[in-house]
Amino acid sequence: MISAPPLDALPWMHHGFGTRHSPPPAGRIATLRQIHSATVWSVRDVSGCLGEGDALITDEPGLLLAIRTADCVPILLADPVRRVVAAVHAGWRGTVAGVLTQTLSQMRQNYETKPADLVAAIGPAIGPCCFAVGSEVPLPVVDGRADLWAANRRQLENEGVTRIWSAEQCTMCKPETFFSFRRDRETGRMISAIGIR
Ligand SMILES: [Zn+2]
Repeated sequence: MISAPPLDALPWMHHGFGTRHSPPPAGRIATLRQIHSATVWSVRDVSGCLGEGDALITDEPGLLLAIRTADCVPILLADPVRRVVAAVHAGWRGTVAGVLTQTLSQMRQNYETKPADLVAAIGPAIGPCCFAVGSEVPLPVVDGRADLWAANRRQLENEGVTRIWSAEQCTMCKPETFFSFRRDRETGRMISAIGIR
């Protein structure tokens, strides 16, 4: 597991970005059938796979929110004031659709989260070193490559989030640590999770 120091500093919650070696998380878990959308679920009193979407929010202690990735960007969010957490799956389609912006919007509406209070962590994902794209990907491109880490950081910054940690570890560059769909095609998924104690 890879953890984000700014989230480790919050004793009321726990989190982790899985590697290819991490055991699946145990306990009551909420997941989604991920469809590269900007669909966000605010949940409580649930478990298992809830339906189609790409981001989960809860204020319920004891419930783990989990998302699965292998190159797409996992993003974990915590609001230490309102005690709300979120897990977001953002591949390039989800990034373009604004799944992270939608998650922040729903946290504001449903939980009165202020972006300035939020702690955000961007996990391991395919990096600007490896994400070669064509014109099908409407993101800024430098030397034929797009930067999903930066694109998601911009969505956070545009909403007023300032406490942003990024793993800056490329899943495609590190086969010993990470699954990578682009590198391997047939591959597993890494599980990232966050929950309130
Ligand atoms: Zn790379």
